[in-house]
Amino acid sequence: MDYGLNKEQLALQDSFRKFCEKEIKPNADLLDKADPAKVPGILKKNLKKLAEIGYTGLFHDEKYGGTGKDLITQSIAQEELAKVCAATYLSVGASVGLCGIPIGIFGTEEQKKKYLPGLITTDLVGCFGLTEPEAGSDAISISTTAVKKGNNWVLNGTKTFITNGPIADVAVVMAKTDPTGGKGRNVSSFIVEKGTKGFSTGKPMDKMGYRGSPTSELIFQECEIPAANLLGKENEGFMQAMKTLEYGRIGMAMVCLGVSMACMDESIKYAKERVQFGRPISKFQMVSFKIADMKLLTDVARLLIYRAAWLKDTNDPAAATAASIAKLVASETSTQISSMAVQVHGGYGYMKEYLVERLYRDAKLGEIGEGTSEIQRVLIARDVLAKY
Ligand SMILES: Cc1cc2nc3c(=O)[nH]c(=O)nc-3n(C[C@H](O)[C@H](O)[C@H](O)COP(=O)(O)OP(=O)(O)OC[C@H]3O[C@@H](n4cnc5c(N)ncnc54)[C@H](O)[C@@H]3O)c2cc1C
Repeated sequence: MDYGLNKEQLALQDSFRKFCEKEIKPNADLLDKADPAKVPGILKKNLKKLAEIGYTGLFHDEKYGGTGKDLITQSIAQEELAKVCAATYLSVGASVGLCGIPIGIFGTEEQKKKYLPGLITTDLVGCFGLTEPEAGSDAISISTTAVKKGNNWVLNGTKTFITNGPIADVAVVMAKTDPTGGKGRNVSSFIVEKGTKGFSTGKPMDKMGYRGSPTSELIFQECEIPAANLLGKENEGFMQAMKTLEYGRIGMAMVCLGVSMACMDESIKYAKERVQFGRPISKFQMVSFKIADMKLLTDVARLLIYRAAWLKDTNDPAAATAASIAKLVASETSTQISSMAVQVHGGYGYMKEYLVERLYRDAKLGEIGEGTSEIQRVLIARDVLAKY
């Protein structure tokens, strides 16, 4: 077993860290506090820069303009981005990841050529529509339908909480295609383009955190799309969504780790500078032990993420549960760490001008998105109980 990063990974980490500090970090606060109407403009500039530096290409094959790196190498770059701007991370992940990955795995050659290069250059922004107002954790019970009409499919229904909804050019969407089919075997995935008649999006949602990553409903009303926009095989959409979410959970774990790392950095800096009772607060054991906990919890999260990434890279069937474990631990420790970071900052940590205030708000999403903590525990328990 080798715990070290290779030369190429170390070089990528170093150059990417410098890039993120210089090009992305300065806009992070602006994105968080911007008028919602201005968010897309700032965000899209970030996406373009990330495409230029090669970040978006890491996730896709050279054939379509990517560099096709392994998941551990991807994770190394992801941590640097997540640390400086979780909102940009979420949006780029929804586009090249949640939208691009299922196209890359299940798409026809024609679909891959049509969408992947644009997603990588960020000329196209993608989104992934599974969740509905009445079907979140119970995603298998979605009610959006797709009915065959001649050579087309007609979609009806509403998706909610969709990352990039307001700015997406292309959406991968799950809909029921077989009303008589058993649960999980009656859903298919479709690619729907912006501008298609009958497809609209709701107003940007007003969120607690990740305010720089726009979220909205996707609304389908007699929305007719060509048969060629079916993604993969008919009635295999739920399986495709679950496979996509295995990548998504590793990605969500990484953004949680990035938020935790930023909390730790800020806390160390502040604890060394802030003087009370005549000495820096870092000298008080109860403060320094918070820093120790941050260090150990981030190390645990990173190791679990790398393990999940490695299992996924090696096509090990244990990858799905490992991804759930990584996501569960990274997200729950991130909310703990962000709370500790606010505590270390005292009253200043409660003020909007201090970074930890945003990190505290951003951290919470990790326990909800890509399957809640409760659902990760359901999945982990189901797997373990079936094996032993
Ligand atoms: C900012 C943001 C971005 C998102 N982006 C996307 C996106 O791009 N695409 C997409 O498809 N979705 C997206 N989502 C949706 C997200 O995946 C869902 O919010 C999540 O899966 C939970 O579903 P829900 O909100 O309907 O909660 P519910 O399923 O209603 O859950 C409510 C509570 O009940 C608990 N619960 C539910 N079932 C069980 C059970 N069986 N056992 C124990 N507890 C249970 C949950 O854990 C939770 O605590 C996003 C959400 C947010 C907030």
